[in-house]
Amino acid sequence: MPSMTDLVEKVRAGERVSADEALELYRFAPTPVLGQLADEIRGRKHPAGVVTYIIDRNVNYTNVCVAKCNFCAFYRDVGSPEGYVLGFDELFRKIDETIAVGGVQLLLQGGHNPDLPLSWYEDLFRAVKERYPTFKLHALSPPEVIHLSRLSQLSVPAIIDRLIAAGLDSIPGGGAEILVDRVRQQLHCYGKATSDEWLDVMRHAHRAGLRTTATMMYGTVETDAERIEHMVRLRDLQDETGGFTAFITWSFQPDHTELGAERLITEATGVDYLRTLAMSRIVLDNFDNLQASWVTQGGKVGQLSLAYGANDMGSVMIEENVVRAAGASYCMDELEIVRNIEDAGFRAKRRSMHYEVLGDPICYERDVPRMLELASAREAGDTHVPQELRFYPARSRAGKKERDDMQDELQNGRIAGLQN
Ligand code: SF4
Repeated sequence: MPSMTDLVEKVRAGERVSADEALELYRFAPTPVLGQLADEIRGRKHPAGVVTYIIDRNVNYTNVCVAKCNFCAFYRDVGSPEGYVLGFDELFRKIDETIAVGGVQLLLQGGHNPDLPLSWYEDLFRAVKERYPTFKLHALSPPEVIHLSRLSQLSVPAIIDRLIAAGLDSIPGGGAEILVDRVRQQLHCYGKATSDEWLDVMRHAHRAGLRTTATMMYGTVETDAERIEHMVRLRDLQDETGGFTAFITWSFQPDHTELGAERLITEATGVDYLRTLAMSRIVLDNFDNLQASWVTQGGKVGQLSLAYGANDMGSVMIEENVVRAAGASYCMDELEIVRNIEDAGFRAKRRSMHYEVLGDPICYERDVPRMLELASAREAGDTHVPQELRFYPARSRAGKKERDDMQDELQNGRIAGLQN
């Protein structure tokens, strides 16, 4: 193993570090040194002093999920009175609100709901594209694609092709957690996607011409070496396909989760986050963009991320449900994101899904209403079931009963305005 001084020089010279070398740096390099190295790499990749962000909306179309990951506070069981599926009209309204504040895409993810067949997604995507032809759908993380593949008994490439034909623009990198199967087994997420299966979805998506993101959720049961292994696996796939636009890492949010309660895991610290972010900049030498996760770390650590390798402040977001369910509820509107970027010494620019600069902040051009808290999927107490669901076959017993009840109500004339 080279000395720490030699390792630092190796990174400074732009050479790739091995997994063992990365682990040595991660464990033993002083935090300011890691930050300096990551900042130098960011400066080489983004010399213009620009930090980007996107205006979009983080929408979760359903919270019903059969995967039951033990780190998740968001999901509800099939048949739960707290389970929901958003209607097409609700989703259109969310898109209208997003476009009104300059938004350009939906980040659309949800639970593995057995009562939403592939045709529901295809119809939704087509309907969105018909109404909003230039609006982008950054939708369905790899485990959701795998869920649809199992539900439809179609291959993953076939599912991806069908979703692209319906309007899918990009796949978000959610559900990666840690791409090491020992960890996935302990997090009860091995069944939804093994490490190889997650990577294979991304490989197929890239081959089909999509750009995607990659993520890492750390701070559960993994070792430092397994965090590095995760990064190296992503780096290898990026060498193969070049399809990743960005990497985003965040810490496990333990509140209201089975894992947090069982193992008394507390949230990782801010320094752990900054060191992990800096290491990802060092290891992922073939990734252009690193996002700051202000939604889990708060605005102040989010801003510090810009000195630890991040070149993007993520999303104005508008809405968030998953992290909030686990106890974190930070909010930053465009004005606040821009203030944080500029105060850190950078120029703020709006970007697209593909990290192309779209222009200056909207708040430079016109008054944008302040947003003091992020919206949620639905107003509290709204439990309505979208009427169009009756057109889609359900798989679960509870779902079948719900659809039968809807048909009965229709026949009894209690649902107006819908014809078979
Ligand atoms: S993380 Fe996703 S797949 Fe896992 S239980 Fe939560 S909603 Fe389901």
